[in-house]
Amino acid sequence: MTQALYRGRFAPSPTGPLHFGSLITALGSYLDAKSQGGEWWLRIDDLDPPRVAPGAIDAILRAMEAYGLAWDGAVQYQRQRGEAYAAALAGLQGLGVVYACACSRREIADSSIGRPGAPVYPGICRAGLAPGKIARALRVDTRGACVDFADRLQGAVMQDLEREAGDFIVQRADGLFAYQLAAVVDDAELGITDIVRGADLLDSTLRQVYLRRLLDLPLPRYLHLPVAVNALGEKLSKQTLAPPLDMAHPQPALVQALRFLNHAPPQALEGAETREILAWAVQNWSVARIPAVRSMEPQI
Ligand code: GLU
Repeated sequence: MTQALYRGRFAPSPTGPLHFGSLITALGSYLDAKSQGGEWWLRIDDLDPPRVAPGAIDAILRAMEAYGLAWDGAVQYQRQRGEAYAAALAGLQGLGVVYACACSRREIADSSIGRPGAPVYPGICRAGLAPGKIARALRVDTRGACVDFADRLQGAVMQDLEREAGDFIVQRADGLFAYQLAAVVDDAELGITDIVRGADLLDSTLRQVYLRRLLDLPLPRYLHLPVAVNALGEKLSKQTLAPPLDMAHPQPALVQALRFLNHAPPQALEGAETREILAWAVQNWSVARIPAVRSMEPQI
């Protein structure tokens, strides 16, 4: 396969239909790809079957069509990729950086060195399981891992992984591969050159950069967009009851999402077709115009 100069992707988790927050991510990554003549792929992150909401995958595909966000290539599904994830895990195990962990959530919360709600695993099982303990999850050792990358919008991002994130899970107690590992394997295999997504994933990106270094995979370029939050500073999501995108009338949300990214179309395009609005946005896309913040409230 010849390597594209720019290959981006949108990777929604099918836990529900797309909402305004997901539209911002989809739109930002689409416009960044198309403004550079790049490809834009769609990956459905259905790694965790119990979290896949009935009908959500179909609803996502239909919303993307309604909003004119046409993807390249075949849709990728994480549920079909277990073998590739297992091979990457074996690679990490070969490096001696993976260990079995027997700790329960409660034990981790009790001994965590992190903030409440964001426990940092302190490495209890690194030296082996205590007698009588049963292995639950597999973790990657983060000792000595200071990770950094340059984000196209947020600037330099760095973290002492051991202290601030802790040894993180690569395979869960229920046998499912962790999102961090799956995302790295999929993005690398598809030759994704540019990852554009919400700044709520910055911590994930640091873990993913670490996994890429371990697996000797090249780093893509990263662009983390501001996340839309409500007046309480909560991310718009299914949990905060963000309504699904209006499929019959895409223009208002499309324009509002563009305004959020500081790319409001000119008045002459008010009432124009989705296709025309998107064409204008592709022409006028400039990362320098996007507010370099991690979260923002949309103006109504
Ligand atoms: N599916 C995840 C999400 O929607 C990850 C997306 C990504 O890797 O960009 O939050």
